[in-house]
Amino acid sequence: MTQALQAIRGMNDILPDEADLWEQFEELIRLWLRAYGYRPIRMPLVEPTPLFSRAIGEVTDIVEKEMYSFEDSLNGEKLTLRPEGTASCVRAVLQHNLLYDGPKRLWYMGPMFRHERPQKGRYRQFHQVGVEALGFAGPDVDAEQILMGARLWDDLGLEGIRLELNTLGQAEERARHRADLITYFGQHEARLDADAKRRLHTNPLRILDSKNPEMQSLVDGAPKLIEYLGAASLAHFEGVQAILKDAGIPYRINPRLVRGLDYYNLTVFEWVTDQLGAQGTVCAGGRYDGLIEQLGGKPAPACGFAMGVERLLALWHDQGNQIQRTVPEAYIVHQGEAASRVAFRAAELLRDAGIDTVLHCGGGSFKSQMKKADASGAVLALIVGDEEAAAQEVGFKLLREQGEQRRIALDQVATTVGEWLLGAEE
Ligand code: ATP
Ligand code: MG
Repeated sequence: MTQALQAIRGMNDILPDEADLWEQFEELIRLWLRAYGYRPIRMPLVEPTPLFSRAIGEVTDIVEKEMYSFEDSLNGEKLTLRPEGTASCVRAVLQHNLLYDGPKRLWYMGPMFRHERPQKGRYRQFHQVGVEALGFAGPDVDAEQILMGARLWDDLGLEGIRLELNTLGQAEERARHRADLITYFGQHEARLDADAKRRLHTNPLRILDSKNPEMQSLVDGAPKLIEYLGAASLAHFEGVQAILKDAGIPYRINPRLVRGLDYYNLTVFEWVTDQLGAQGTVCAGGRYDGLIEQLGGKPAPACGFAMGVERLLALWHDQGNQIQRTVPEAYIVHQGEAASRVAFRAAELLRDAGIDTVLHCGGGSFKSQMKKADASGAVLALIVGDEEAAAQEVGFKLLREQGEQRRIALDQVATTVGEWLLGAEE
């Protein structure tokens, strides 16, 4: 026998019980986004590689080492499995000129691919819900996106997710800060680790993000970006905070919050929990006013965030949300050729009436079929044998409560079952 193939490391199958949980989550997500006027958009999973190197920045973890890139074997074009959604979303918006009649609120959900070391909460294929508001300049939309997060945690019944907030200012402000950072870290070069040394002249801001405990005191003493911000940047930041305060959303300003992607400016935020170990960020986002122009569009401001679905679902499950398995309403058992024809007819009549129905396939004794009916979780079984078939009737038996089996006419099956289910709901 040949050895069975396995999925790629870090790329998970989502089996039916878990997939049921995903569907519950996705239904909530759709309602939640509709409540804020966001519209869906769907982009390809594969994009030209330069889209990401231009959008995300050459000197980032993602572009330096995490992308799944390959050449199209037919024409040699360089392609990449999308590591995130914002770049694709902006590309699509520009390609189809979606901003021609004003700003847009858009969202998407789907798999992203990053070549990282797989561990709890960190996978090579993972899923994000991405939310992008394009063409909006003010702090109102940033704050609204943060409010959205707070509402979703509430809708999901999640506790212990806290908000971290920062501002990255504007490019010129960051440039002055950056120059001073290089000077500061340069004066202490002996205390930098290898990663930091490498970043000193390429991306010194990322040194502030260092997780190396030996560098903490050095990082703590570094010049702070907030001291370099002008009046407009400060006013934007205060505008966001005023709305958060009005809405009663607690937050902590974290000057070290710099985000892994290069395209952010002004507001950045993360929603973090302590309940998932090292992979505690469940949602991250902020403003990216420069990206649209950087990707060849007419300059337009924008703001967005992305949530890690696996991390949120782990939290949702850990905090006691029960998986509700999807079960059929009716299960039809049958034996014999004439009975099978009646059973097929009955099944389609039920489905016409919107009743979820499993028709037993594969034969077997009535006893074994009834076992399957019971295991399916269905509320009731419909039973068709030779006698019922001859009379154009079906047997009706409740599976979850006592009650005699009775017979109903085939042309009454949908009404009778439908009425019974309605009564059971009340
Ligand atoms: P991290 O610091 O955890 O690597 P990141 O800054 O790379 O996160 P973003 O690019 O901002 O993450 O993506 C937004 C969210 O997507 C993260 O907050 C996280 O919840 C989720 N996420 C990112 N990478 C992964 C991954 N490899 N596996 C699972 N979820 C992920
Ligand atoms: Mg990462």
